[in-house]
Amino acid sequence: MTEQQQLSQIYLDANATTPVLPAAAQAALATMQTQFGNPSSSHITGLQAKQIMEQTRSKARKVIGASSGQVIFTSGATEGIQTAILSALYQAKQSYNSNKKPCILYGATEHKAVPESLKHWNHILDIHSEIKAIPVDKDGMLDLDFIAKEVSNALMICTMAVNNETGAEQDLSKLETVIRSNNPNTYWMVDCVQALGKVELKIANTSIDYAPFSGHKLYAMKGIGFVYIREKAPFTPFIAGGGQESGLRSGTENLPGLASLNVIFDELIGQGRGVFATKETLCDYRDQIAKALTTAFPTIVFNNNFACSVPTTLNFAIPGFSAKEILDLFDAANIRVSSGSACSSKVTGSFVLDAMGLPQTQSEAAIRLSFGPAATQAEIDAACERIAYCARALGHSCLVNMNDLDNKSKLDGLVQFKVGGSCCWLFVDSESKEAVIIEPLAELTQRLLTVLECQGLKLRAVIDTHGHADHASARTQLLNDELKTQKTDHLGWPAQCNVVTVDMLTLPFIDVGKFALVKIATPGHTQDSISLALCHKAELKAGKFNSLYTFCGDLILMGTLGRTNFESSDASQMYQSLQLLSGLLEQDSLLCPSHDYNNEFVTTLNAETQRNQLLADVVSVRIPVADFMKKKAKLDSHIHDQANQEIMCGALTSCSQNHSFLELNNDALQAHLDDTKDVQLIDIREPHEYALNHAQQFDKNVPLTRLANFIGLQRLNKNQPLVLVCRSGSRSSVAAQTLVRLGFEHVAHLKGGYALAQ
Ligand code: PLP
Repeated sequence: MTEQQQLSQIYLDANATTPVLPAAAQAALATMQTQFGNPSSSHITGLQAKQIMEQTRSKARKVIGASSGQVIFTSGATEGIQTAILSALYQAKQSYNSNKKPCILYGATEHKAVPESLKHWNHILDIHSEIKAIPVDKDGMLDLDFIAKEVSNALMICTMAVNNETGAEQDLSKLETVIRSNNPNTYWMVDCVQALGKVELKIANTSIDYAPFSGHKLYAMKGIGFVYIREKAPFTPFIAGGGQESGLRSGTENLPGLASLNVIFDELIGQGRGVFATKETLCDYRDQIAKALTTAFPTIVFNNNFACSVPTTLNFAIPGFSAKEILDLFDAANIRVSSGSACSSKVTGSFVLDAMGLPQTQSEAAIRLSFGPAATQAEIDAACERIAYCARALGHSCLVNMNDLDNKSKLDGLVQFKVGGSCCWLFVDSESKEAVIIEPLAELTQRLLTVLECQGLKLRAVIDTHGHADHASARTQLLNDELKTQKTDHLGWPAQCNVVTVDMLTLPFIDVGKFALVKIATPGHTQDSISLALCHKAELKAGKFNSLYTFCGDLILMGTLGRTNFESSDASQMYQSLQLLSGLLEQDSLLCPSHDYNNEFVTTLNAETQRNQLLADVVSVRIPVADFMKKKAKLDSHIHDQANQEIMCGALTSCSQNHSFLELNNDALQAHLDDTKDVQLIDIREPHEYALNHAQQFDKNVPLTRLANFIGLQRLNKNQPLVLVCRSGSRSSVAAQTLVRLGFEHVAHLKGGYALAQ
């Protein structure tokens, strides 16, 4: 790809992994090129390798304060966790009294490696003990009363010193008192991965039986870690073989990893170059970042309590923004942070924050920002400056209202907002600055109000296409003073409106600048269902019905039809409504349903009749109404509403998208551009991401929220070759699918997106 306006990377995801310190990388390189021996070899090269290994072990003991017990090198903490759990449970199995119904305890906020390993070994070893999560309080601190009550019966208890998502630091000495005063014999593992280098450990002074550590969380290489095992704690090798590590962990040792760890240990015991900052300095860094974040995003909420967290982790949410949006924003500004939750379209919260009892919105929107002890003042300053820059970028999209910003991305036409599977539409006539909102969703109220104000728009109406079963309308929260006094029906349609006659039909409409929003009664899904068609007013008045966008509610959904098994549903009415609408609309006119369960954005009658036989049969009157009703009832019988889950407004069918389009890698892109005439290169990210950073040649920005608008404009020019790009190739791929489904003939996207093109 050609030159990209680049900002240097600011890496703030140290809890996931860290870069290797230059001195550690050098030491590792030396063990690959010169001191590359096998520590088991008895010749000089081998002896030199063994010397590095033993020196590293002795430094490890110093770092964690382990004068006794074993320190065994592993591939990382996950292996250390297996070793500890296998050892403890295998021994417990030999000695437990099966009548007593023992349990296994672990902290509810442990890294998944712990509960998953417990489940695994509990099953493999045929123990079948109950595995219980120890609850935590709002700060992530373990419930000591729960432990006191349960631990006497526990084969093993697993806790962590510092949490990876929140930095919450447990009080190990209090924990020890509770555990040991109730059960001196249970095996206790403490996951120390996120504590290394951040918390002083004097492990010999404790009764901790097992403590796993990992190198790559503290500037050593990936693939190296170690586990401490208390003297007399039971031990079973997790890996048997050539007898390395005195037979405790077989396999040729990872000497480069060990050499890198050796350098890190030097830093920790004060024999290095002094690259690690003191705790006090790290606290100052945290305060500085927290201040920058709060200034940039005044509504920010912090999910971790700084008073009981290590200073290197900040976990926060910005109300009104999803974790994915903030990640995309920061990534565009070349700041790397991570989300607390898995970033999928079906939003899931962070189980750690859920266990702490934080509100779901906070958990779903959680962002983790973490740095390591090698952070420098210059890096923190740069991060703070960049955070402010990110916030200003949001002003481009009018997602925050910044009066002093002069190059805001101007809205004109249709914008599609989504919350889960539900859609909300904003239509703007930029000339008159008039706007209308269709299907208002409560989660979007603040965002819509901000956009309206930021763009200086005059709201003409807020309308629902029917009384929704799955959510309450947020209509009244959006009304301006003028609209509040206007008389409307329960869906927001004004009592006073114009009418026009088209094909002998008398249709009411309201003005939105030079456009007209026409109401068409389309009952079926519910008795009150309407469709709203946006037409050019002049054309309409001349008797020509040419809808640019038809908001069809839950009449036609993408890949299916709206359900007709509600109390106020009527499948025979739906049959009539489908015929009415199909008679009015052009085959290629865009349909904008109120749901998009599969990331398909918009559709057309043409696209739907190709994949929905039932709809095709109704439209072409090949099926009598009675048969339609039977088939429809069968289709709806597939919907099974479950408590606490989104109510589905139509039965999903198996007609998932699978439309082929060109997937180009970076090299193929240039060849494609050379071979294809008049290609339009489109950056599909949101305007704030685009404003922060984009490739020069991708000089057109069509955010996904305006894909429907773009398709509407391009309706008659489907031969236009297009190449789409986004951050990772995921958004460009779903947009390409939609374009191809709607008949665009030459669509390609950059596989891997900007991420792989740099
Ligand atoms: N425990 C905690 C608290 C962690 O943060 C991680 C890594 O994210 C692990 C265990 C697993 O460590 P490793 O990647 O070394 O297997």
